[in-house]
Amino acid sequence: MRLFLLVTAILLLAGCDQTPTGRQQLALVPEALMSRMGADAFEQMRQQGPVVTESAINRQVECIARELVAAARRHYPQVDMPDEWEVAVFDRSSPNAFALPGGRIGVHAGLLRVAESPSQLAAVIGHEIGHVLADHGNERMTQQLGIKSALLLVGLLGEGELAQEPLQRALGIGARLGIALPFSRTHEEEADLMGLMIMAEAGFDPAQSVALWRNMAAVGGDQPPEFLSTHPAHESRIGQLKEYLPEAQGIRETAVPSSCS
Ligand SMILES: [Zn+2]
Repeated sequence: MRLFLLVTAILLLAGCDQTPTGRQQLALVPEALMSRMGADAFEQMRQQGPVVTESAINRQVECIARELVAAARRHYPQVDMPDEWEVAVFDRSSPNAFALPGGRIGVHAGLLRVAESPSQLAAVIGHEIGHVLADHGNERMTQQLGIKSALLLVGLLGEGELAQEPLQRALGIGARLGIALPFSRTHEEEADLMGLMIMAEAGFDPAQSVALWRNMAAVGGDQPPEFLSTHPAHESRIGQLKEYLPEAQGIRETAVPSSCS
């Protein structure tokens, strides 16, 4: 028992990180493994498609994503982030978007009907980049696996890269399982806050985030999009955004305006 407590204490110390907003988090799954699961899931989704190939839509989404990623690097220089990001537009009618570990972002075509301007689209993509930068997928998976599996992870971690295959098997994780689940309210609020700062840094009007979430709330629908599935309730989400809006406006004042029209 004493050994267990000792190992647990070491584990918690070793695995406790800070998110870009300064929140303590426990994210124990090796990043390389998270990234590979993200890549597998994204590839699978792209093959199942259908993917939008209309170049004007793709160009705009890619342009906004590119500017936001560059802005995120400037705004959170201390944060490890993926070198390469991949973006795809899926031909689905729900107003949804998602981010997978390792820097893969998916946008549903339905989102383009709800987001009325490039700034509103930037609010959503910025939110998704926030999930990736704050390592929410890893934190959620760590929570799901629990302490027992966390100990298993530590046993396998020492063996480095080679241990990932048996680790994935041992934990019985399908590539899509665990990354397709909704995020917690804490995660959503943190992604909102980060997305707001990132869009402002990229020269988009941060006030458009409030307009976007109002539009999202208005469409609702029976299959709630990622943003609506776990709360925060629209009003509290909009309240938080308004609270941080002056700070975001300050960032935007010195930013170069976006060139994605
Ligand atoms: Zn989210």
